[in-house]
This record gives sequence, C-alpha cells and structure tokens, in this order.
Amino acid sequence: MQLPVLLQDIERCARAVDRDPASVRLIAVSKGQPVAEIRDKVLKFGHHVLAENRGQELRDKLRELPDPQLEWHFIGPIQSNKIKYLSQVHMIHTLEDASQATELARHAAKWGRAPKLLIQVHNGEVQKHGCPPAEVPALLKTTRELGLDVEGLMVMAPYDQPEAARQVFRQVADLNAKLGLRELSMGMSDDYPHAIEAGSTLIRIGSAIFL
Ligand SMILES: *Cc1c(COP(=O)(O)O)cnc(C)c1O
Repeated sequence: MQLPVLLQDIERCARAVDRDPASVRLIAVSKGQPVAEIRDKVLKFGHHVLAENRGQELRDKLRELPDPQLEWHFIGPIQSNKIKYLSQVHMIHTLEDASQATELARHAAKWGRAPKLLIQVHNGEVQKHGCPPAEVPALLKTTRELGLDVEGLMVMAPYDQPEAARQVFRQVADLNAKLGLRELSMGMSDDYPHAIEAGSTLIRIGSAIFL
C-alpha cells in the first residue's frame, strides 16, 4: 500500500471510533529494507518516522541517512552489548526489565541524553518478550527512579488471532490508563484497525508499506 493511502486509512479508522486522527502516529518499520526502498516508499512522501529492530542495522542506516529530520524508533530486543548503537534513538519501545533500565541509564549518562521509553508488555501467549503485566508498575517505578522517561506501553498481539489480539489491546490500554501513561504502541500491518479502536497512539507498520 502506498504510504499516503495507508495514512488515509489510519485516519479513517480513527474517525470511525471518534478519535482525533492526529492522536495516532504512523511509524514506518524499515527493518530489512535497503535505503533506496526507504527513500522511495517513505521519505519521498514527507514521512520521517522510522523504526528498526537491530542495533547494527540501525547504526548503518543512521550513517546512510544522516538527515537530522528523521525520527528513529527502536523496536527490537534490548541487548546490553548493543545498547551503544541506540544513542540517537528518539524512543525505545521494548524495555522489559530492570537490568535493561539500569544499563540504559548508564549509557544515557555517557551520551548526555536519554531516549524516551515504552515498556513492552508480555502478551501472555506465544511471544517470549515483554514484562508480565503484574510486574509493569514496579518496572515503571524503578525506571523512573533511574531518571528515565517512560511514556507508555507497547505490546505485540498474538499473531493471526484477531479476537485474542483485540483482547490483548484492550487489556494493555486499560493498564496504560490505570498507570496514567499517554503513549500506547500497538498495531501492525494486520491488526492496526483493532489497535486504533483500543486507543493506540503509535502504529508500527512494515509489510503493508514495503511489500
Ligand atoms: C516487524 C515489526 C513490526 C511491523 O510488522 P508488519 O507486520 O510488517 O507491519 C512491528 N513491530 C515490531 C516489534 C516488529 O518487529
């Protein structure tokens, strides 16, 4: 789908559930895509919000696309030996535990800046990554005590199970509201309308744009 068409559809989904379309931002997931494709399918349309899930790939793309207008998000697992590649990232969506928060705080002190953070919530099913919902409040507290800014939650819905996905989206949206957080990163190519319905503010879309 061409990016302008996707943006129109996101807007339509927001309006359909009485949400302000400006409250839903599209993050173009550029993992695995060469820079020429990113230029042709995203940047050409004036869109500047991108996400990667691997440290080295992010580092390489920052070199190839040194445009300061670009806003990079990191959506992959946080590995302590690869945090060094995240110094310029706007937001990390995948904080899972206190040891990662400690490592990030250490790096942030060195960098003189800190990426904004989202806590990834475990979806209770197949997925191995994420913080169990019951442990999210404690992780939030610890991370804030380290001086880092947690803006919300992220979740990956169970794949190919629309009803289960809706339920996960609703549960994570409830938890987000209960914790008084404002950003909610959920929704991918196959499930973003449900995620918007549940209140998502950050939609992470790859294949719908690039395939
Ligand atoms: C790859 C990826 C996406 C994008 O998924 P699509 O189905 O290609 O839209 C979103 N979030 C995360 C964490 C990913 O790894």
